[in-house]
Amino acid sequence: MAVRIMKPAAYKQEQQLDYGTEAQHDAVKQIVAAVAEQGDEALRQYTKQFDRMEIRDFRVEETVIQAAYSDVDKVFLEALRRAADRIRSFHEKQKRLSWHDSQPDGSMLGQLIRPLKRVGLYVPGGTAAYPSSVLMNVIPAQVAGVKEIALATPPSTAGEPGINPYILVAAAELGIQEIYRVGGAQAIAAMAYGTESIPAVDKICGPGNIYVALAKRYVYGKVDIDSIAGPSDITVLADEHADPSYVAADLLSQAEHDALAQAVLVTASPKLAEQVQQEIERQLESLPRKEIAARSLADNGAIIVADSLDECVDTVNRIAPEHLELLVEEPFALLGRIENAGAIFLGPYSSEPVGDYYAGPNHILPTGGTARYASPLNVDDFLKKTSLIYYSKAALAEAGPDIMTLARGEGLEGHARAIAIRLEKEGM
Ligand code: NAD
Repeated sequence: MAVRIMKPAAYKQEQQLDYGTEAQHDAVKQIVAAVAEQGDEALRQYTKQFDRMEIRDFRVEETVIQAAYSDVDKVFLEALRRAADRIRSFHEKQKRLSWHDSQPDGSMLGQLIRPLKRVGLYVPGGTAAYPSSVLMNVIPAQVAGVKEIALATPPSTAGEPGINPYILVAAAELGIQEIYRVGGAQAIAAMAYGTESIPAVDKICGPGNIYVALAKRYVYGKVDIDSIAGPSDITVLADEHADPSYVAADLLSQAEHDALAQAVLVTASPKLAEQVQQEIERQLESLPRKEIAARSLADNGAIIVADSLDECVDTVNRIAPEHLELLVEEPFALLGRIENAGAIFLGPYSSEPVGDYYAGPNHILPTGGTARYASPLNVDDFLKKTSLIYYSKAALAEAGPDIMTLARGEGLEGHARAIAIRLEKEGM
């Protein structure tokens, strides 16, 4: 089934952040309430029901974490270490320091910037394992200075004793010891409310399936969350200079994620559009995850042929892609006109997997058009800011009348009096 070629106006983007059926919403509400009330007992029951496993201890023992090393090959481990170094060095550049400003009247204003105390990171693990998501979640939290990092991931029957060894090794490499074998909405509820074996956290981050996403929405307010991640998407903006085989391969690299993923080409070249359409068919044949990728391309994929490069740019800004590749002759010349994108990959050698795994920027990005207002996961997500206000007597004398006027304008006499009492008593 070929990817559809269409004009920009015909492309209707799926905004899937509000996804989930009524039954899924109801199920998640019930799971969250039960875990908040019954703690570990509810966790055990749901793990048995959804993961088909009987769990005695949710916390993964240190010996199990160390033993996982024997199931992970050395070449993978070395690549993982090099990726972790790059990701850490990229996030180090995002660090911020507390600051204060002293005024000539003796007053001082500032901001204390401090790490969150305790965070819970969800690592999906139902149908596949994502050690790269361990790096992308944990490293910004560590760079921010978070001391307590707990990790939750579903138990899997694939690896003994129940957790994928690649996930355990990725965590161990970063010095994470607090890992729980629990997944889905029940894991999110446990980290939000706390149970006998899982102490509550202040913020929950990390992607997951519909149950995880909905649970994060329900616990928001009790704890903070990073975002609600929907299915992944990529848009490639390419001109006649692009190699059609590169464009097709990059579209397929997202389409293979899951059937809901969106892979889109935007071009002003009808010739390239046809070449890419044929190249996708050719490359699909030998792709191991062919069925998932084909479903994704048929349901959500598109090749959009615009009349000009300007119209291509407008279309990209309307889509606000999670990943944007600029496969054009002069990618840097276009950069200033791109308003909405989670991550921008410039030129033929910056294929999206370079960023997914290795270059350093975070791969947890705003999906489904939310790049209009949201940013990639970053160090700021793990920091909180506290304002500092110190007013001297001279400063209060000067500002007091304005403050009282503003307070009385809002009908809040008590506020005005808190200032007035000082001005009177101190003869200001
Ligand atoms: P998951 O860990 O998100 O979910 C598995 C859990 O779902 C199970 O432990 C189970 O308890 C629960 N569950 C399963 N069926 C249920 C049901 N009927 N009712 C209630 N709970 C149920 O793993 P997954 O399912 O493989 O999904 C992973 C998701 O994460 C995918 O959508 C993938 O695209 C996404 N992902 C995103 C990123 C990113 O950076 N945005 C990275 C990796 C993965």
